[in-house]
Amino acid sequence: MGQPDGFIKFNREMPKTRDPHERIKDYKEIYPPLDHQHVHTQSARCMDCGVPFCHHGCPLGNTIPDFNEAVYRGDWEEAITILSTTNNFPEFTGRICPAPCEASCVLSINNKPVAIEYIEKSIAETAFERGYIKPQPPKQRTGKRVAVIGSGPAGLAAAAQLNKAGHWVTVFERSDRIGGLLRYGIPDFKLEKKVLDRRLKVLEQEGIIFRTNTHVGINVSAKFLQDEFDAVLVCGGASAPRDLPIPGRQLQGVHFAMDFLSQQNKRVAGDRIFSGDILAGGKRVLVIGGGDTGSDCVGTSNRQGARSVTQIELLAKPPLKRNEETNPWPLWPMVLNTSSSHEEGVDRKWAILTKEFIGDHLNRLTGLKVVDIEWTIEKNGKPGFVERKDSERIIPCELALLAIGFTGAEKGGLVQELELELDERGNIKTRHYQTNQEGVFAAGDIRKGQSLVVWAISEGREAARAADKWLMGESKLESKDESFVKVSV
Ligand SMILES: Cc1cc2nc3c(=O)[nH]c(=O)nc-3n(C[C@H](O)[C@H](O)[C@H](O)COP(=O)(O)OP(=O)(O)OC[C@H]3O[C@@H](n4cnc5c(N)ncnc54)[C@H](O)[C@@H]3O)c2cc1C
Repeated sequence: MGQPDGFIKFNREMPKTRDPHERIKDYKEIYPPLDHQHVHTQSARCMDCGVPFCHHGCPLGNTIPDFNEAVYRGDWEEAITILSTTNNFPEFTGRICPAPCEASCVLSINNKPVAIEYIEKSIAETAFERGYIKPQPPKQRTGKRVAVIGSGPAGLAAAAQLNKAGHWVTVFERSDRIGGLLRYGIPDFKLEKKVLDRRLKVLEQEGIIFRTNTHVGINVSAKFLQDEFDAVLVCGGASAPRDLPIPGRQLQGVHFAMDFLSQQNKRVAGDRIFSGDILAGGKRVLVIGGGDTGSDCVGTSNRQGARSVTQIELLAKPPLKRNEETNPWPLWPMVLNTSSSHEEGVDRKWAILTKEFIGDHLNRLTGLKVVDIEWTIEKNGKPGFVERKDSERIIPCELALLAIGFTGAEKGGLVQELELELDERGNIKTRHYQTNQEGVFAAGDIRKGQSLVVWAISEGREAARAADKWLMGESKLESKDESFVKVSV
């Protein structure tokens, strides 16, 4: 442990974000550059508790007290060595992870948790700056060839691990650029794409081949890949958006959030949009859905100069503090989340049911008819709701963005061609990450359902290990389960 009384002496202090009024003028990251002394003080707050619940909270099993201690000693090289054994991309998770590790930090029982995510980002950035992260191609090749379909965090993590095991890895991506939702979902103000490109350069130099504009199951046959490669990993994400089939859905001005967000990421990358710009400038924007995708729509709309932004949600407003009876530590706290995008300006409303999109004579959206609801517990014990009397009204808007989730894997294309079995939620069904087809593995949102980057990395790593074991009879790749064992002995 760095400083035994650090958690008593120092408060949790996060770096100040850029002024919301200033930062909405661009798409750059909202945090200032690193201050090593500040990170050192924050790392001193880690108590190195007997049972580090943070390990368990982290889907990757990051050994957090170990890297905190290395940072406290100023040994950044050791810190990145520790962090890299469990996490291929700490520069992504250090920026955009909701940090379940912090929710389960023992300090957070009665204090603010250690600033783990901030420390993680600091380790990654310092390691890149000082050249500790460099290409490490495998010393020996196995001669086996593996195809990874999809280049989001699951596909990239799987590719990195399989390449490390000595296999020749090719990543196939249908889009024009590599990165999945890191590239064309998550806005630049949360994750600048130069951070992604920097990592892709390392992966390429390690020997991974990337093929863009290759839609497996559409313009390249999945069976062809099965024949050409020794194993196939399907990491195609859960990109089928949930629709809102209410009257007026066809009106001009009603769009899926992902179409809006991906266009903006393309503009920031310098591309021109050829198929119908979706822009919020000068409009009253209504974001339907209170989750992270909705929050990204809020931040993007404000940057585009929206006249106003309203975000509505079907569920009731969450409490400000966790309910100790039903939602105790170290569980993820079910509390109100206010993101940096919300701080930039939005009118948020909860317990709202959408009824009908309203349009003018030219078929253009002018508003959304809604009604307030009250959540109740039904006779069967399940939650239900009733509409509040006389609460029907129209929220005026010219742009409505549907951010109400995803319905799992896309059902056509490669899923159909390979006859991959799906589970009851529409995700690819696997056993130890292997699908119903021998030698075809799946990982990430396409297997787990829409989730988090940290989970996608974890899934990619575990699926890579399963594939390596299937190919070679055994695997030396690290597994999360093993890292838990390592720390508990
Ligand atoms: C708007 C938005 C914001 C988010 N923000 C956060 C956040 O802040 N923090 C966080 O932790 N998580 C966030 N998430 C969730 C996170 O991005 C996903 O959980 C994660 O990216 C899933 O990774 P994946 O690799 O499984 O899939 P994806 O990232 O979706 O990547 C799948 C890739 O596969 C490609 N593909 C699909 N089918 C084929 C095919 N047949 N052939 C070739 N290529 C194919 C797709 O084009 C895509 O590039 C966000 C999600 C969204 C939608």
